[in-house]
Amino acid sequence: MNVLVINCGSSSLKYQLLDMTTEEVLAKGLVERIGIEGSVLVHEAPGQDKVKLEQPMKTHKEALNLVMTALVDPAHGVVKSLEEISAVGHRAVHGAETFSDSVVIDDAVIKSLEECSELAPLHNPANLIGINACRELLPNVPMVAVFDTAFHQTLPGEAFMYPLPYELYEKFKIRKYGFHGTSHKFVSQAAAELMGKKLEDLKLISCHLGNGASLCAIKNGKSVDTSMGLTPLAGLEMGTRCGDIDPAIIPFLVNKGYTVEEVDVLMNKKSGVLGVSGISSDFRDVEGAANNGDKRAQLALDIFHYRVRTTIGAYVAAMDGVDGIIFTAGLGENSTTSRAAICGGLKYLGITIDPVANSKRGEATIISDKDSKTTVMVIPTNEELMIARDTLALAK
Ligand code: ADP
Repeated sequence: MNVLVINCGSSSLKYQLLDMTTEEVLAKGLVERIGIEGSVLVHEAPGQDKVKLEQPMKTHKEALNLVMTALVDPAHGVVKSLEEISAVGHRAVHGAETFSDSVVIDDAVIKSLEECSELAPLHNPANLIGINACRELLPNVPMVAVFDTAFHQTLPGEAFMYPLPYELYEKFKIRKYGFHGTSHKFVSQAAAELMGKKLEDLKLISCHLGNGASLCAIKNGKSVDTSMGLTPLAGLEMGTRCGDIDPAIIPFLVNKGYTVEEVDVLMNKKSGVLGVSGISSDFRDVEGAANNGDKRAQLALDIFHYRVRTTIGAYVAAMDGVDGIIFTAGLGENSTTSRAAICGGLKYLGITIDPVANSKRGEATIISDKDSKTTVMVIPTNEELMIARDTLALAK
């Protein structure tokens, strides 16, 4: 059974076709600049040269049409006909309180997704465009929506409610939702396997550290707290996002003459590691500059490590203990120095890191010493595979 996974952004579209008997990737690709000049599709299949197709793609439907053509192309295609696609899994960003799990898409689900759009105005409309275009092109194929927020619907009230007037929750659904749920769920399952234990018996902390970064406390397989909030701006310092700040800074800046839109851009696009270092939002550049003695680059990294470490401390308190800590995503999977810096301050958890294991890359590995009281792991995330697994389970 082949499952096509689609992740639609406002002007981009990522896809993967997976053979779910082996969980092997048959083909994957990326379309960029949909609806703007210079549209381009890059399609890859293992063992074949990359194919780059530059031609105007005015809509997501046109882009998807070219993706389908690439998948069945006699030269670089991987299936003979579209009938070999048994189901489609769509990444959906915000499922609000409506969706606490993945769901088979029907008209009612589409309507609910439209209603959730207010909470994710940049993401949900793009996801919907992709879903609708796919339904037109593959009308008889079952489709499943997999939400970034769903895994966190198990958060208890004390973790998800903001201490604002209660009517704001009732009127506007203002609460913590959390994101990266598909990734936190995937790595927590993989961690239990790596530890040779049952997920239901474990207290885990998953650190998804990429350009966007969030932590998740997972107790007995369920998310009980996470660092992002109503939006993905909350929590840790990120590539360009500030994470948690004193909310009074916003009216302070508005009183200084900034518009609300300017403050929004400032917090989302000009802050974080970029804003503090003044160098880059890319952790590799900032680590490089810090190694060359740049003080602001070092400060940006110190803030990042400090926030990850103190949030780990908060989640140990939330779960009354921890058995395993997982590092994943771009920085979490690749930065030996960041992992060492974060874990260096976790001696009270009995953590000792094995430097040889910590220098490995690209595979699920335990990086703590054998006698470390808490197991520390690096686990490459695979959101597409998690989406495909959920899709297979629901569309069968
Ligand atoms: P996102 O999906 O949120 O865009 P990723 O998970 O792809 O982010 O992570 C991107 C981040 O990971 C970048 O800031 C990049 O610098 C960082 N990264 C990737 N490889 C390394 C590395 N070897 N050392 C340090 N940082 C790295």
